[in-house]
Amino acid sequence: MPNPAAPPSSAPASPSAPPSADRPRSCPACSGPVDPDPRFTAWCPACEWNLVPAEEAAEECGKSPKDLARERAAAERTERLFQEVAAGRTDTTRRDWLAASALALPVHAVTVAVAGAAVWLLVTGNTPLRCLGALLLAVAFLLRPRLGRVPSGADVLKRGEAPALYGLADRVAAELGAPPVGAIRVTEDFNASMAVVGLRRTSVLTVGLPLWEALDDRQRIAVLGHEIAHQVNGDNRRGLWLGSAMRALAHWYELARPAERSRGGYGVVALLSLIGDYLGNAFLHLVSRLPYQAYLLLDRLTARAGQQAEYRADGLGARVASTEAASEALETLLLGPATGTVTMRLRAEIQSRPRSGRRDAAAGPDVTELWPQLRAHLAAIPPLERERLLRRSRRAGHAVDASHPPTHLRLALLARQAPLPAAVTCAPDEAAAVAAELAPHRTRIARTLLAG
Ligand SMILES: [Zn+2]
Ligand SMILES: [Zn+2]
Repeated sequence: MPNPAAPPSSAPASPSAPPSADRPRSCPACSGPVDPDPRFTAWCPACEWNLVPAEEAAEECGKSPKDLARERAAAERTERLFQEVAAGRTDTTRRDWLAASALALPVHAVTVAVAGAAVWLLVTGNTPLRCLGALLLAVAFLLRPRLGRVPSGADVLKRGEAPALYGLADRVAAELGAPPVGAIRVTEDFNASMAVVGLRRTSVLTVGLPLWEALDDRQRIAVLGHEIAHQVNGDNRRGLWLGSAMRALAHWYELARPAERSRGGYGVVALLSLIGDYLGNAFLHLVSRLPYQAYLLLDRLTARAGQQAEYRADGLGARVASTEAASEALETLLLGPATGTVTMRLRAEIQSRPRSGRRDAAAGPDVTELWPQLRAHLAAIPPLERERLLRRSRRAGHAVDASHPPTHLRLALLARQAPLPAAVTCAPDEAAAVAAELAPHRTRIARTLLAG
């Protein structure tokens, strides 16, 4: 889903933070009332004074005019696309997909040509040509399309281990007409995502536990709905043809990118080495530009259609879990940075606790306290601060990663559509079974986060 790459939240450092002596009671710009809650940023909803506090705005100031102009242009493109989608016009998508698919052809053709030449030399050549063929075969192996691997680590939940969670995901998939999820991973991110990997194109759903814990059952179904909808929303970026071409280009760029010069020393040898490095790096720089530019072009062509697919996935998520739950899940995403505050606070608290007795020391602190504290912290964020985060997301819309439209536009599109009821719901005993399946991961991930 949807990580709204927002700047760090100024959500409360501590719910019991003392009120600041110099906190204004009224807006210095328009004299309107400011948020009176001392735990949160003082800002004015009427004129948006201090919507983005000075320390966050300083990050913007550090950007070059070129970067700012590029971001503005991207924001305008995003806004135009929103208007088109809201008006039901999606005619340019097909043209973009066709252009991107055509551009992927030479990428795959290069790999096939190198592999073909290697085989031809190995079969028909003399010894030196066969050596060259073996070398080309190695190059073809390096250039091969990357399909990704089915994960197998401790963060993977197998079907047998989590029948309730898979069952819920299966019901969501059935509602959307999508194939059942192949694997589910549970990670420490405040996010969720869907990938299709391997030759057998296994779908891998990644659920970030901090996000999952911050949501209620309806909102969780909305997140599952959005992610599983990626299999049926026409998002070709994740497909075999385009997805593997883009990953191949990114890999080619990494292969060709000049390395950092690490050698030092003095004398003629060092000087010759320096010149050699310089010429080599200049050559590699030129070579690496080609995959880099091709990647940027493919990304640009697919970003637009990809964003349309994201809006469609939001709509499908709303169809599964209700428009209300889908909107609430999106709003929760804006609170992601506040989770860092809870983690830091609990980490400091655990470290400062006295160890009483050998039994306690052996058991260690109960790291799963993190989850109720996280929920309480997010629930305590008042509507005015939530409103500030939403408006800040609107102002920082250009800063959102290109794969997803800005959160405020996604919310706006859901608000324009007729509200839908939930098609899939979760009974209390099913929710309890899912929670029990996730219990070991709750401990594992809390331990990781609190270890910092
Ligand atoms: Zn998505
Ligand atoms: Zn004001």
